[in-house]
Amino acid sequence: MADRPANGAVTAVDSSRPSDDDPTAVDVLIVGAGPAGCAAALTLAAAGVTVQVVDKATFPRDKICGDGLTTLALRLLADLDFDPATVPSWRVVDDCTVRGPSTAAIRFPLPDSGGDFAAIARRSEFDHALVQQVIAAGVPVRQACAVTGIEHDGTAATVAMVDSGASGSVRAPDLIRARQVIAADGMWSPVRKLLEPDGYRGEWHAWRQYIDGVTGPAADELLVWFDADLLPGYAWAFPLADGRVNLGFGVMRSADRKGADLRALADGLIDRPHVRAALGADARPESPGRSWPIPARIDEATLSIGRVLFVGDAAAATDPMTGEGIGQALLTGRRAAEAIIAGGTAAEVADRYRAEVRSELVADHKMAVVLGHMLARGWGADLAVRIVGSTAWTRRNFARWLFEDYPRALVFTPRRWRRRMFTGPGARFPGV
Ligand SMILES: Cc1cc2nc3c(=O)[nH]c(=O)nc-3n(C[C@H](O)[C@H](O)[C@H](O)COP(=O)(O)OP(=O)(O)OC[C@H]3O[C@@H](n4cnc5c(N)ncnc54)[C@H](O)[C@@H]3O)c2cc1C
Repeated sequence: MADRPANGAVTAVDSSRPSDDDPTAVDVLIVGAGPAGCAAALTLAAAGVTVQVVDKATFPRDKICGDGLTTLALRLLADLDFDPATVPSWRVVDDCTVRGPSTAAIRFPLPDSGGDFAAIARRSEFDHALVQQVIAAGVPVRQACAVTGIEHDGTAATVAMVDSGASGSVRAPDLIRARQVIAADGMWSPVRKLLEPDGYRGEWHAWRQYIDGVTGPAADELLVWFDADLLPGYAWAFPLADGRVNLGFGVMRSADRKGADLRALADGLIDRPHVRAALGADARPESPGRSWPIPARIDEATLSIGRVLFVGDAAAATDPMTGEGIGQALLTGRRAAEAIIAGGTAAEVADRYRAEVRSELVADHKMAVVLGHMLARGWGADLAVRIVGSTAWTRRNFARWLFEDYPRALVFTPRRWRRRMFTGPGARFPGV
C-alpha cells in the first residue's frame, strides 16, 4: 500500500479551498459514479462539503458484474439510507447452494435472525438508483464527461475533462480545481494511469451473461459451482427478480489461460450439464456475454497520490477469494470521504485514509489469499465444501462468512470483536 507525492507536487499543504471566489472550484471532485463514488458523494454531502461528481457514462449504464450484494454491501447501503424499492430487479436471497469439483451440491442457509444478508440487483438499475440518490442529495453529477488530465499545485488539483460524445471535437477541455480528488473510476482508473502509468491488468478474468427463459432451480436459487477446470475460480447463477439469471464465471489470471481458452469457457458455460439442468431446457442468452477484469490487491495498491485518494476498484479493493467488490467499493468510498471530512493537510487526509483501509481490509485480504490457494486445487475445494457442509452450524456460519456478514479474518483480529457479531441481524433498510 503506497502513499506517493504527485510529481513535483504537494505532500503538506493547508486544507483551505483552492479559491473562494473561483467559480470552477469545489472542495472535492469525485471521478466515477459507481458504488464507490456514490458512497463518497453521499457521505460528503451529508457533512455539508461542496462536492461534484463526474462520470464518462450516461446513467443508466451497464456494468459487467455478477450483481450480487453481500451483507457488507447491504449494511453500508442501509447506513446511506438507500431505498431498495428504487431498483426493480432487487431480490433478497436467503441461501446459496455450492457444488465442489466432485461433491454433491450443498445448501447453505443464511440466518433468519431478521434483516437482509444477501441480495441480487441488476447493476444498470442499482447504479442508476444510487446516482439518483446522489442527485437528490443536491450533488451535481456531470454525466457523459471523461476526465482526461490532472495536475497538482500548492493549493489544489486541476482536473481536465471533455464531454464523452465530443471525440474529434477541437473544444478545449473544461478545468475544475478541487482541494481533494476521489478517484472512483474503476478497474482501469484513468486517473491512476495519468499520475502513475502502469501495465496493471487485474487479478481475475470474469465474464457474465444475462439469461432469460429460466425454468429450472436457478430461477430461485443462488448457485455456485467450483468446476475443476475453473479452479482457481468458480461459476455462478444468481437469480434476478424479473425471472432472469446472471450467469458467469471468474478465474484467476495466469499465463496458461489464453484468450481462446477463456472464450471457450464462456461459450460453453450454459451447456455444461449441471448448468443446463439448473437453468432449464428453454433458457437462452438475452444478449452476448461480456468480460472484464477484477482487481484484488488492496495490500499493494496505490491508495493516494498527492491530493487524490483511490477507492473501490481503482484501489483494487475486491475480495481476492470471491471477486466481490461492491461492499469494498462502498466501504472505501465512505472511508475516503470521512478522512476528508476530518480535515487537515492533504498528507494528513491520505494518512488517515490509508490507516482505515489497513485496519479494515488488509488482514481480510491476506486471509482470503491464503484460503484462495486452498480452493485452487480440486481436492482442496472438495475438502472445503465437505468441511463447511458437515453440520447445520458450519453450514449456517459459512454462509454468513461467505457473504461478508463479518470480516474474513475476524478470528485473527480481536480488536474488531463486537457483541452479537455471529448472531446479529442482517441489513435493515429504512422504511422496510
Ligand atoms: C464479471 C464480474 C462479476 C462481478 N460480480 C460481483 C458480484 O456479484 N458482487 C460484487 O460485490 N462484486 C462483483 N464484481 C466486482 C464489482 O463489479 C466491482 O468491484 C465494483 O463495480 C467496483 O465499483 P467501483 O465504484 O469501484 O467501480 P465501477 O463500478 O467500475 O465504476 C467506475 C465508474 O468510473 C467511470 N469512469 C471510468 N473512467 C472515467 C473517466 N475517465 N472519467 C470519468 N468517469 C470515468 C465509469 O464510467 C464507471 O461508472 C464483479 C466484477 C466482474 C467483472
